[in-house]
Amino acid sequence: MKCTAIVLAAGQGKRMNSKVQKQFLLLKGKPLLYYSLACFQKSREIDDIIIVTGKESIEFCKKEIVELYGFTKVRTVTAGGKERYDSVYAGLCACEDTDYVFIHDGARPFVTEDMIQRVKTAAVEYQACTVGMPSKDTIKIADKNNMVSETPERSRVWMIQTPQAFGYDLLKKAHDRARQGDMSGVTDDAMVVETYTDRKIKLVEGSYENIKITTPEDIFIAEKFLEKI
Ligand code: C5P
Repeated sequence: MKCTAIVLAAGQGKRMNSKVQKQFLLLKGKPLLYYSLACFQKSREIDDIIIVTGKESIEFCKKEIVELYGFTKVRTVTAGGKERYDSVYAGLCACEDTDYVFIHDGARPFVTEDMIQRVKTAAVEYQACTVGMPSKDTIKIADKNNMVSETPERSRVWMIQTPQAFGYDLLKKAHDRARQGDMSGVTDDAMVVETYTDRKIKLVEGSYENIKITTPEDIFIAEKFLEKI
């Protein structure tokens, strides 16, 4: 059974307000993207890795990350697209004869082997799963005027993270269908499978440390987490 990790690093990172692209910012001397790649490289569940990055960053990524750190499982570094779902699709098209795909935000450095194993087990049983964590905060749904329209029961609200794993054929078919219509508003792959197939998505525990580095204060938090490792 072959498992491929698709690691996404083609975002602009506008919310970071930095000249260096977010995925290449240094955290304890190594680029942000290094950390998740190191985890997939070491993982006994993952056979190969596809990196999706900006067209202009492909050579940099190959030399300064893949070669420098010896990430031998990386089969290809491919160009992403305008939106996250375009980058995922580029990654899916670059896969070769794989059974399961693990889609992961390169901006989440704290994925762990335990998490990957939980995801793999659920992917094999349910064909579609994502990591996440129960929300610590009460969540409100707002209407267009920022008035509260709904308060979902907190015990049933999860904050969704990556990796998300799917049977390859299931996810590819779902994306193929979705791409025939309007995909604006699609923020993760579970949503594509929920909307375009009958599959239910299994929720698997991630961790509260599995944050996505998005704004400058996330760098500070990530450095604190890294001090423990
Ligand atoms: O924009 P957001 O923070 O949701 O991005 C999550 C992940 O998706 C990041 O790792 C980012 O690099 C990636 N992404 C991408 N292609 C895009 C937009 C985002 O690979 N067009």
